[in-house]
Amino acid sequence: MSTLEIHTFLCRKDNIGVLVHAPDGSTASIDAPDAAAVQAALTEKGWSLSHILVTHHHGDHTAGNLELKEKTGCRIVGPRLEAARIPGIDVEVEDGDTFLLGGHRVDVIGTPGHTMGHITYFMPDDHAAFVGDTLFVMGCGRVLEGNHEMMWHSLCRIAGLPPDTRIYCGHEYTVANARFGLTVEPDNALLRQRLEKAEETVAAGALNIPTLLEQELRTNVFLRPHNTETRRRFGMGAVADWRVFAELRERKNRA
Ligand SMILES: [Zn+2]
Repeated sequence: MSTLEIHTFLCRKDNIGVLVHAPDGSTASIDAPDAAAVQAALTEKGWSLSHILVTHHHGDHTAGNLELKEKTGCRIVGPRLEAARIPGIDVEVEDGDTFLLGGHRVDVIGTPGHTMGHITYFMPDDHAAFVGDTLFVMGCGRVLEGNHEMMWHSLCRIAGLPPDTRIYCGHEYTVANARFGLTVEPDNALLRQRLEKAEETVAAGALNIPTLLEQELRTNVFLRPHNTETRRRFGMGAVADWRVFAELRERKNRA
């Protein structure tokens, strides 16, 4: 199997631009937050855009769609459930679909909650998942259109991928997420260590993306509602995991 090259860059204020380049020349932009920023990254790498893979309909993920399509002739793939709200969509996909990008398999996983049609693109042979605004580094997206139980189920689907999966998310919120996480799990030494590293990374002008799923399982409090310390702190006993997740999300919203 040939190797993919994945390039990340910051665009807008805190959106993450991601280009996925296969040796046959195929290049996908994961979402299109800003046409000029994506174009600049393409020029820097010397790649030409063949696809945009859209995770969900929000404007900060689709604003560049039409301009990039006009300039490059790329094909836009996106969630069927949100097709009407995705500018320039050519190919509609949904949970369970599989397609090839430059000969590399891409599995579509439905991850609703942040929006109702949100999808994740998982490339199993390349150990990479593009999760949009569902999971963030040590955090998770806001539950805007779905409900907490639905969002929890979506997070479980990502958490169930192989632990060596590299997670590419839609925003750089790492430091704020880790600080919140430490209010929930103050004794989590790895979480504390990751916060320090994340602060250094941001100070150096670099990105904390991607993250490794295995690290998230140990430090992302939103994936750890089963944690007995957390349950004790919240005064929640033997309730379903999604209820503890909902409490975590509500607390983060107020933080
Ligand atoms: Zn969003």
